[in-house]
Parts: sequence; structure tokens; C-alpha cells
Amino acid sequence: MEGFQELFKILEEPLVRFFLWVALIYVIANVFVDRKIAFWIGSLGATYFWIKNYDQTTVLKAWGVIGAFMLTIFLGKVVFNLNPLLLLKGKKRCPMCCEEVYRKAKVCPHCHHRFREGEECDNPT
Ligand SMILES: [Zn+2]
Repeated sequence: MEGFQELFKILEEPLVRFFLWVALIYVIANVFVDRKIAFWIGSLGATYFWIKNYDQTTVLKAWGVIGAFMLTIFLGKVVFNLNPLLLLKGKKRCPMCCEEVYRKAKVCPHCHHRFREGEECDNPT
């Protein structure tokens, strides 16, 4: 039971609860709109809700975390020309059809393109 108590302690942390709100609104919005728009609806909606009902410090901290996260992805894309989200999923993009495929794939399952060593889509969108 101690594990549960630890879990509830974490859930009492305002920052964690803020992100739970973001996740909840995101999941609901994701049903109706595109992932990126759902993300903005989730984060801005939770921000609005939180400032109205609780404090601003938590929101500022949370946006610090979101900012650092987005900066990491941005730097990964622009400076190192890789997509951290794809990397986390163990995938790459096919240069012919730009579909996501597993990094170790030798042939694209979508368009049957044969990969050379380290070959990826140059212009991922
Ligand atoms: Zn392909």
C-alpha cells in the first residue's frame, strides 16, 4: 500500500495536477481536432482554468517545462536534423513516401523503397 501513498503524494503536487489537466483536455480535444491543435487547446485551457482557480506560480513553472521540452525538440530538428519524437519511437521517415518506419527496416512497408545505410526523409513535415 505504500506505493499507492507515494503515488497520491505525487498527485497532490500542483505541477503534476496541472499537467494532468493538460493531458485530460488534450485527450478530449484530440477526438475532435488535429494533435497539434489539441495540444494548444489542452495547455492553454489548463492555463486558463488554473489561473482562474488556483495560483500563477504553478502555471509559470509548467510553461517553463513545456518551453524546455519544445526547445529540445526544436534544437533536435534544426541543429541535429533529427526528430526526437521519432527517435523515442525507434522510427525514421522513408525518403520516398515520408511515412514512419522502424529504424532497422531495410525496406519501406508502405512504398517498398530499399533503404541505404542511415537514409532518411530530408524534409520531414
Ligand atoms: Zn516509403
